[in-house]
Amino acid sequence: MIGKIKELAKKYEKEIIETRRRFHQNPETSWKEVETTKYIAETLKKLGCENIKVGFGGTQCGVTAEIVGKPGANEKCVALRADIDALPLKDEKDVPYKSQNENATHACGHDAHTAMLLAAARILTDIKADLKGKVRLLFQPAEEHGVNPGAKALVDGGAMEGVDAVFGIHVMSTTPSGEFWYRVGPFMAAADGWELTISGKGGHGSTPETAIDPTIAAGQIIGAFQSIVAREVSAKDTAVVSIGGVKTSSFVFNIIPERAEMNGSVRTFRPEVQDHVEEAMKRIVDGVCAGTRCRGEFKYSRFLPATINEEKTTLLAKSVAEELFGAAKVKESPLNMGSEDFSYYSRIAPSAFAYLGTASAEKKSDMPHHSPKFDVDESVLFMGAAMHAAFAWSCLEGKK
Ligand SMILES: [Zn+2]
Ligand SMILES: [Zn+2]
Repeated sequence: MIGKIKELAKKYEKEIIETRRRFHQNPETSWKEVETTKYIAETLKKLGCENIKVGFGGTQCGVTAEIVGKPGANEKCVALRADIDALPLKDEKDVPYKSQNENATHACGHDAHTAMLLAAARILTDIKADLKGKVRLLFQPAEEHGVNPGAKALVDGGAMEGVDAVFGIHVMSTTPSGEFWYRVGPFMAAADGWELTISGKGGHGSTPETAIDPTIAAGQIIGAFQSIVAREVSAKDTAVVSIGGVKTSSFVFNIIPERAEMNGSVRTFRPEVQDHVEEAMKRIVDGVCAGTRCRGEFKYSRFLPATINEEKTTLLAKSVAEELFGAAKVKESPLNMGSEDFSYYSRIAPSAFAYLGTASAEKKSDMPHHSPKFDVDESVLFMGAAMHAAFAWSCLEGKK
């Protein structure tokens, strides 16, 4: 069956590329994917998908639908996920399918994800009679939003109810074209953000003794934050504490400012490390502010959980990929400090999230994600569609 799925994917290759280009030319940013949603929903309807639900998080964005196989064979449900949003960025590529929207570009490859999953839906419809269970398709908005992630809205809307396994692919411009990268366990980091306001007492630069200088506290805190990862996180764990910005309420050579403000981000994998880093940052802020007579207001926000891949599900994806791509093209991925809202699904059901390499210097598809010249190597898209369909079929066969 996996051979047949690959053949079908190849048969639909031209259509997959056309669909990807259609989305590429008409990008919509997070929580604005209304036309993209309509197109997906209409396509799924034409394919005969069931239980089509449109609109999540109180918007008209996002679609879920089901392909129901042989009745009674198995009650299992496999979810396949694609994110559908673009980025608020001007397209600087010189290609015929360039974005027609001045203010948006598919610079992360979510257009490719959407086209691959739509093609997988078509393949799975073709082999419906051989499916021992049902496949739920998740076309989610707003992966890039960060603060209001689309995945969370789908979960809240019931999209993960009854799901036994969930699979997702991200195209990757740093991974060689045509390679499939998997990883068991922690894969992508949790993304947190923090804000700090240090209040002192402003004064004349010539008489600091009459003032309370928040800049001195800020400097000590910047230094002390560096010791968290270096001295408090085990070398066997991984974490990043970064400072994004530092500013003072005045910027004049002879004035001691009233306030200093900072913000930044934290990336971790294990919840214990995440808790520890947050506690250490608060402890340092309190200690330094007490020592320098300042007042610190520290706000720590957890934006996205870490993406943790379940072992059996991921090893199934690996073996399916080996059959499709050939073992030499299937590799274990290193940890990635980036984040993905796929983590909301991986907290609920056993999951496998993987990368499909699209990096080719010749095809100019090796630009960084989120750069205005980002593009994908379209010759690998049929493999992504095949991977989605073959994973779903294998999972329903009970191969996991
Ligand atoms: Zn992105
Ligand atoms: Zn992305």
